[in-house]
Amino acid sequence: MKVLVAAPLHEKAIEILKNAGLEVVYEEYPDQEKLKELVKDVSAIIVRSKPKVTKEIIDAASSLKVIARAGVGLDNIDVEYAKSKGIEIVNAPAASSRSVAELAIALIFNVARKVAFADRKMREGIWAKKQCMGFELEGKTLGVVGFGRIGYQVAKIANAIGMKLLLYDPYPNEERAKEVGGRFVELEELLRNSDVVTIHVPLLESTYHLINEEKLKLMKPTAILINTSRGPIVDTNALVKALQEGWIAGAGLDVFEEEPLPKDHPLTKLDNVVLTPHIGASTVEAQERAGIEVAEKVVKILKG
Ligand code: NAD
Repeated sequence: MKVLVAAPLHEKAIEILKNAGLEVVYEEYPDQEKLKELVKDVSAIIVRSKPKVTKEIIDAASSLKVIARAGVGLDNIDVEYAKSKGIEIVNAPAASSRSVAELAIALIFNVARKVAFADRKMREGIWAKKQCMGFELEGKTLGVVGFGRIGYQVAKIANAIGMKLLLYDPYPNEERAKEVGGRFVELEELLRNSDVVTIHVPLLESTYHLINEEKLKLMKPTAILINTSRGPIVDTNALVKALQEGWIAGAGLDVFEEEPLPKDHPLTKLDNVVLTPHIGASTVEAQERAGIEVAEKVVKILKG
């Protein structure tokens, strides 16, 4: 049986597939034409956020039994169509949780201490000491919007730093909240009372523009907003306005409504914003975990 690995995959994952007696065909990010050709006789396809596994690709793959995403999001896979044809879909939803959480914490420190701004000024030959007054995190309140896998990991680290925790989640896990010394409150209360707000909800109809103009106006003018979840959860135009007009003090963003973020986007003009190109899961550990997890799932499905 053949497995098409259509995106970079950790070597340990490749080994798992080969040790199970599967033939591995590796082609990094083939275009749709090439992909259509490659899937003809494969039993499994392994992808990351690329390439796209569309209806057309699925139709071209007559022996296909499983589509694996070495990561979380399934946006690039026509899941409904695959399922209707009896093809299984597997992913590794927890593999990157710690990595995303650590990036959220990195963005919090970065915005609070103006690290990226200071670095930019240093490279321009400017010693911007006076413009770099920051604030400490110990004793401050972190509001975690979405207390799931990633939110919990962020809360654990924040608790260790000495931050107080306010949590918001429609499905509150009280045991985990107790563990991190957090308290569940309504979203409005969280926004009004947090010094840092970090978002970790899935993108759903109910979370689209969850953080809009009205919500941003509830935040403290000294507060910062961190988004490492999905871009459309925050209304970008409202956020730009909030940052320009000082409704909030800063933001750290890993995800955007439009990705890649357009070159001259207003966010790139703001000194109080730290931007990263959707790198939440981009760590050696997350990629290794995700690769191994999906390789094991593929082997289980194909070999029983
Ligand atoms: P999860 O499912 O474990 O947790 C999400 C939590 O949000 C759940 O507890 C759920 O009850 C809660 N929730 C649902 N609707 C809500 C609402 N309206 N308000 C508040 N909470 C709500 O998910 P996770 O693994 O922690 O992932 C969280 C987010 O991180 C997702 O959007 C995911 O796409 C994103 N993510 C980003 C990266 C990256 O590279 N930046 C990587 C992985 C995941």
